Amino acid sequence: MSRIPDERPLNPKPEVVDGLRRLLPRESVLTTEAELAPYECDGLSAFQQRPLVVALPETVEQVQAVMRLCHEMEVPVVARGAGTGLSGGALPLADGVLLSLAKFNRILGIDPANRSATVQPGVRNLAISEAAAGHGLYYAPDPSSQIACSIGGNVAENSGGVHCLKYGLTVHNILKLKLISVEGELFEVGADALDSPGLDLLALMTGSEGMLAVIVEVTVKLLPKPERAQALLAAFDSVEQAGAAVAEIIGAGIIPAGLEMMDRPAIRAAEDFVHAGYPTDVEAILICELDGFNAEVSFDVMRVRDLLLASGAADVRTAADDAERLRFWKGRKAAFPAVGRISPDYYCMDGTIPRRQLGPVLRQISALSEQYGLAVANVFHAGDGNLHPLILYDANNPGELEQAEALGGAILELCVEVGGTVTGEHGVGVEKLNQMCVQFNSAELNQMHAVKAAFDPKRLLNPGKAVPTLHRCAEFGAMHVHHGELKFPELPRF
Ligand SMILES: Cc1cc2nc3c(=O)[nH]c(=O)nc-3n(C[C@H](O)[C@H](O)[C@H](O)COP(=O)(O)OP(=O)(O)OC[C@H]3O[C@@H](n4cnc5c(N)ncnc54)[C@H](O)[C@@H]3O)c2cc1C
Repeated sequence: MSRIPDERPLNPKPEVVDGLRRLLPRESVLTTEAELAPYECDGLSAFQQRPLVVALPETVEQVQAVMRLCHEMEVPVVARGAGTGLSGGALPLADGVLLSLAKFNRILGIDPANRSATVQPGVRNLAISEAAAGHGLYYAPDPSSQIACSIGGNVAENSGGVHCLKYGLTVHNILKLKLISVEGELFEVGADALDSPGLDLLALMTGSEGMLAVIVEVTVKLLPKPERAQALLAAFDSVEQAGAAVAEIIGAGIIPAGLEMMDRPAIRAAEDFVHAGYPTDVEAILICELDGFNAEVSFDVMRVRDLLLASGAADVRTAADDAERLRFWKGRKAAFPAVGRISPDYYCMDGTIPRRQLGPVLRQISALSEQYGLAVANVFHAGDGNLHPLILYDANNPGELEQAEALGGAILELCVEVGGTVTGEHGVGVEKLNQMCVQFNSAELNQMHAVKAAFDPKRLLNPGKAVPTLHRCAEFGAMHVHHGELKFPELPRF
């Protein structure tokens, strides 16, 4: 299925393959249908497109040479890490080079004194913590996909995870990047020290979804492993109460290492799948993990327990030992595949809202789910207000995928309406281009296009992703008039 939103006219230049073959070993240039098939989508498999060619360089010099060639020939390039992205960021282009960083999989060094690790972009997220464990250190951002996703992809998406509530997103946990520009130049942003002079290009590059440069090296911060971690599991008879409890805990000045919520459909799916010991007759559970020094954790466990009960929790369990703590998390971490067992297909949304809106927004999602006739399971980073509604559908039923997309769009627009954003941690990719038109006005989008043009004037790096054209927004705005206000009134409608 090809459902590509790119608005560029196609301009295939098959001669780029010969050019690549001159630069790379034979086995590093893939062109046959069978070779290209594994690259035709990322984790958002509703969008599929085979690239013109896949290039698998393994040295920085090779990446530079590939970029120089593509720049000279004006061939677009899409960088790819592990392909676990959920918004179509690594979706190839029919006339483009898919630049896989999979061979950049070495840990270059661990510096315990500086509490940092320098790694190649294709290194798996979890592999960094595994390598640092011997020094009593770990890398904090932990996307649920951490056994598979690459650190380059994490930087490009500014990924989050359970522990980001306390320890920050990827952007807060990296020190330095080495990148290749669209012209093939090697440059560095950030520093080994905690601050670097000049404009904060490190933050700009983080979350730029492969649109500004290709990451070829990442220096991450490492943290000492906490002395103790303790988890509580609270059961609620309503999602509103669970949402209110989240706001109470954070409002009390406690910052848990993780604070996650699951609603009834998600609880049941996870319990059936991994038998985590969750109560299945409740409307919502919260899993709250506290970490730090022993005495500090003991004190906070008591405070959180009191707050949960005062917020109306029907039951609060404290994990008796580490095995039970890990069992609490096992259900949460397996929730996505667990939902995959109860529905032929599901569509994972990702939006963020102010925490105090959790209860009302979950209630409205439930109303939207009825309106669109598709079930929704919620499992998400409640402490960050980062929602992940999983919309259940069956792609074999004509029109259901489109209905799921329409429901997803309505949920994201609801997030914007209550003061939130259309992304939490999964990026915009091709998935949320329309909702970017709801979030930003034309002046704001123009600024983003201007930044892109400063790094990539010919629009060769991952074109068509992350920032919608104003024409696209005008078209979308013509369909979606909010509160009687026509978006982008200055642009012609089609
Ligand atoms: C089951 C599951 C659970 C998930 N849970 C989470 C979660 O908890 N939190 C979260 O944040 N995400 C989550 N994700 C989404 C995904 O894993 C992250 O977005 C991850 O960071 C993508 O990494 P990747 O290596 O797979 O990147 P890819 O999917 O290959 O690429 C993602 C984007 O990064 C760009 N890119 C990749 N490498 C480079 C590079 N070297 N230079 C420049 N650009 C590059 C690509 O062009 C693309 O735009 C989940 C995904 C799945 C399938």
